[in-house]
Parts: sequence; structure tokens; C-alpha cells
Amino acid sequence: MKPNLHLHPTMRFSCTMCGKCCKNWSITFSEEEKMKLEQTNWTEIFPDLQGKTLWEPVRGPRGREWRFKLQDNDACPFLGEKNECRIHGRFGPHAKPLTCQMFPFSFANTPEGVFAGIRFNCPGVLKGDGGPLSDDPRELVHLWKDFLRQSPPPNYESRVRIGRKGRIEWPDLLAIEGALQRILGEASLPFPKRLLVALRLVETLEGARMEAIQGERLTQLLELVVPEFLREEGEKPLERSRLGLAEKSLFHQYLGILYLREYISYFHKPRAERMRIRFRAYGNGFRFLFQRGVMPMTGYAAPVSLHDVWGQPGLPDDPGCAALLERFFVWKLFAKATFSRLFFNLPYTHGVCFLATTYAALCWYAKASALSRKAAKVELEDLERAVYYVDITLSGARKLSFYHLLVIRSLSRPTVAARLVRLFAGGA
Ligand code: SF4
Repeated sequence: MKPNLHLHPTMRFSCTMCGKCCKNWSITFSEEEKMKLEQTNWTEIFPDLQGKTLWEPVRGPRGREWRFKLQDNDACPFLGEKNECRIHGRFGPHAKPLTCQMFPFSFANTPEGVFAGIRFNCPGVLKGDGGPLSDDPRELVHLWKDFLRQSPPPNYESRVRIGRKGRIEWPDLLAIEGALQRILGEASLPFPKRLLVALRLVETLEGARMEAIQGERLTQLLELVVPEFLREEGEKPLERSRLGLAEKSLFHQYLGILYLREYISYFHKPRAERMRIRFRAYGNGFRFLFQRGVMPMTGYAAPVSLHDVWGQPGLPDDPGCAALLERFFVWKLFAKATFSRLFFNLPYTHGVCFLATTYAALCWYAKASALSRKAAKVELEDLERAVYYVDITLSGARKLSFYHLLVIRSLSRPTVAARLVRLFAGGA
């Protein structure tokens, strides 16, 4: 493995100290990290912690792990009054468990080096403020070295599945990813058109005999078809599409899956409350499936009628929304690990299709946000809210059940993803 860290040149982040990452999340850490934390007498330093359970055991993928016990206010016991981490404040960033240090970053450990990703369920990332991280990557380099020490060895094969039949080498995968990034950054096209071009490229690759198009030949093919696809899409009108009954039902369930965020960390609540949340989740699943009922959407101004969301005007074609969409899709693509099992248990092209379907989900959640504010049209703040919440589920995608993965797999095909993009294209 090459020991290098790749950072996307436009990736930016500046912490706003909102404290959201320390609330409502199950923050886990290893036995070794717990022993390190136990070396400090925290109740002597912070008397308000006396009598409180600070961490509790949990069964993790690598056996017994620990997690901070969320308090009655759903926050980590170490969160201070000004949303500061009190472990960090007292002993510096490296005294915190790696999970805390990592947020909002992720790393994909591949045969071509480590690729940094970033999570959008963080207001500091959503705003896109701060200088490019590549200007001063020292802290990130330190982080990924810790990450490499603690994370299991990479299990990415040297040849990646692409489409149903082919496998390609990692350098070829990076060439395809570069072409997709170029398409997504094509500012002369409205954003949904860029996604349609990306899906067309994916469809072309899926139909190709990849073993015959590798290395230099693949580069030549990409140089030939990408400008052509962009030109053709630029000349066509952006037509809206309709979904079949089965696709519509799958899409409604997909919207419901993204709503799983509501009960991501509820195990610290009393048993009766946990049961209530579970039952409410089943009810919500049916509401999403039939797009009926009024839902109190977490973090939204007021409950929304699911049926009425469809009648709302869609995303405006404004530079702020296009810039956020570009950041979201380009950085997600670059991160690779963000889709973790989804991206790598699916062939690469299917993973890209899944990424494209999130455009439709973002549009729907942005419309829901505008409706909850009783606003006449969707604004950038609605899209930000949609990206924030959709990303919570995407980042925790490995927690999805087999049935949910089946729904996502069914939508992750170029033609279906393109119909979903067209459904919401042109502000609809
Ligand atoms: S959620 Fe993001 S912006 Fe808010 S405190 Fe955490 S890292 Fe900072």
C-alpha cells in the first residue's frame, strides 16, 4: 500500500462550535482508549460529573467496545456549556478517543493510498467555509496515521468490480472517478444535467467489456466520450420523467430509510421511550410508503404533510444550491469510504448510481423543509437542511438492514437513477 494521504483540493471545513456532533450520537471507543480515559480522575476535575455514568459497554464489530453515556439532555457528559469538549479543553485533541478526533472526517484505506472524506452532517462542512484543507494538512496527516494504527487492514481487492461482469485495477477506477468529477464540476450545465451525463457514462461502462478497455485505452475512451456526452446533454431540453408504480413505491421507501436518523441514538432513553420510538418508526415507514399523514420531521420548523411535499416547487437553479450540490457529490465520490459497504459490496457503477439517487432524495427533503417553514419556494437553507439529514443516514449506511439494502440496490441502476433525477429536474 502506498503510504500517502489524498485530499481533494477543494475540501474545506471550519468548526462552528455548534456542538451537534456531541449530541444524539453513539460515540464508541476501544478498550485501550477507555483505559487511557480511566487514568484521569474526571470527577475531581469536573465536579458536575460526580454520580454520573460516563461510559458504558457496547458490542461492536470488533468485540466489546465502549461508548460515552449520553445524558438526559442527549449530550456527551464531557460537553461543556459553550459546546466545547472538556477533554479536549483540558488535555488537547489527542486525549479524545479517535472517533471524536475524526469527526467530520473519514478515511478510505485503498491500495492507491488513503483518501480523505468529509461528512455533511456537520454545519461547519455544509457552509463550506475555511481555507482548503490541503493548504495545511498536518492535523489530518496526524489523524490518518492514528486511523491506520487502529483500523483493520484494508480489504479492498486490487481489482474492483465494475458493472455486473468486469473488474478493473485501482488506477483505472481513479481515471473513471476523475472523469465523473470533471462532469460534476461542469459549471456550464445545470446540476441535474451533470448527473445525467455521469449516469450515461456509467451506463456505457456497464455495457462495455472492461477487460478489453484498460489503462491507456480507457483514458482515451474517457477523453473521447466525456466532452461528447456533455455537449449532447447541453443541447437537449431537460425533460421531466414519471416513475412506474414499483419505482414510486421503492422511492417512497427510500425516503423513509433516510428518515431513520430520528432514532439513531435512542438506547440511552428509558425502556418505555425506546419502545415508543420503535413503534413510531414502524408507523412512519407506512406513512412514507403511502406518502400520507403529517410527520414531525426532526430539525424542521413544523410537521409536514407528506402528500403536500410533492406539490411544492423544487430546487431553484441558483449558484448557491449548485455549489453545495457540487461539493456534496464531488467530495462523496472522492471519499469512497463514505458509502463503505454500500459502495464496495455493490459494483462501483451501482454505487455511483446510488449516489445519484440521493439528488432526488435531497430535492424531496428540501421541499419538505420549505413546506415546514411555510415558504413559497425552496431556498439554500432548505437544501442545507436536506443535505445535513440525508448525510446522517448515508454516513451510517452500514447499519442498514438487508431489506433496506435491497431497496437501495433496486434503485441503483443507471436508468432508474436517471428517471429519479429527471423527476425532480427543472425546479419540479
Ligand atoms: S458538528 Fe461540526 S461544526 Fe458543529 S461542533 Fe461538531 S465539528 Fe464543529
